[in-house]
Amino acid sequence: LFQLSVPLNFVGSVYRELRQALIDMDEMFLLQRQQTRISEKLDAKPLPPAPVGQPEIEFRDVWFGYAKDRPILQGLNLKIAHGESVAVVGPSGCGKSTLLRLLFRFYDPDQGQVIIHGMDTRDAQLDSLRQNIGVIPQDTVLFNDTLLYNVHYADFSASRERVEEAARLAHLDALIKMLPEGFDTQVGERGLKLSGGEKQRVAIARAMLKNAPILLADEATSALDSRTESNIMESLSALAKDRTSILIAHRLSTARNADKIVVLNEGVVQEMGTHDDLLSNPDSLYKRLWDNQHANPTV
Ligand code: ATP
Repeated sequence: LFQLSVPLNFVGSVYRELRQALIDMDEMFLLQRQQTRISEKLDAKPLPPAPVGQPEIEFRDVWFGYAKDRPILQGLNLKIAHGESVAVVGPSGCGKSTLLRLLFRFYDPDQGQVIIHGMDTRDAQLDSLRQNIGVIPQDTVLFNDTLLYNVHYADFSASRERVEEAARLAHLDALIKMLPEGFDTQVGERGLKLSGGEKQRVAIARAMLKNAPILLADEATSALDSRTESNIMESLSALAKDRTSILIAHRLSTARNADKIVVLNEGVVQEMGTHDDLLSNPDSLYKRLWDNQHANPTV
């Protein structure tokens, strides 16, 4: 029995370690699962800096579907200027998060072009493309390591001071003060479990440290209490300042302050404008979505 139980325990613990490692990897590359479809061209070039007088980001007649017979984007056109903050809204499942996946080149369009800094993303070196983009995902994955490591991961060449500064800007300092080992406390599945709001702060700190010119944020669908949510929005707006940003807003209240709101529907941009512009049109889809959300505040 002894002989049998030892190896089984051993196998059990190796299995658990391995499974945890796989879960970490899996979540980290969550969006990259289908990445086998993406390949870098032999003559791929680094993404150039933002060109003057041209849009920073452009979707040009983009068609895309995960399955052949079900197109999600159907000839989408959208230009985003340097420094502009854009919120994307639309009915559930209309393809908002898909836009971000195309920009980060987890997928290529079936037809049309996704252009950043004047370059078709298919012609850019993947590393250089992704260095230009900071991402705040819906659900932030933490590594089983210290809080410091979890922020530092965005740029290991940064000094500890810079990592601490990023954490401060993301308002993680109050949390850090409370933790037994401060910034060096273990977090993640096997350490301290952070709340949804705290995990978003980690994502914001990572993006602060990465300091990329383009910021993509996918609003968390899980509800945070309203104070946490408005604090997070404040940190996000500070981060978006001086950058070109696209925020996927699953709740319309989050979109209000954007320079431009893009209403996605049936695979195209159906409407575009400021919150007031869009609300002032009694026939707009935006107004319908807005009235609907305010009639059912929990939706
Ligand atoms: P929500 O507001 O509900 O989060 P969304 O507008 O962000 O939705 P997407 O996540 O972009 O929508 O998804 C668009 C459509 O594509 C949905 O119908 C979704 O079910 C489908 N979809 C998303 N990811 C995949 C995938 N990896 N494989 C197949 N279908 C997918």
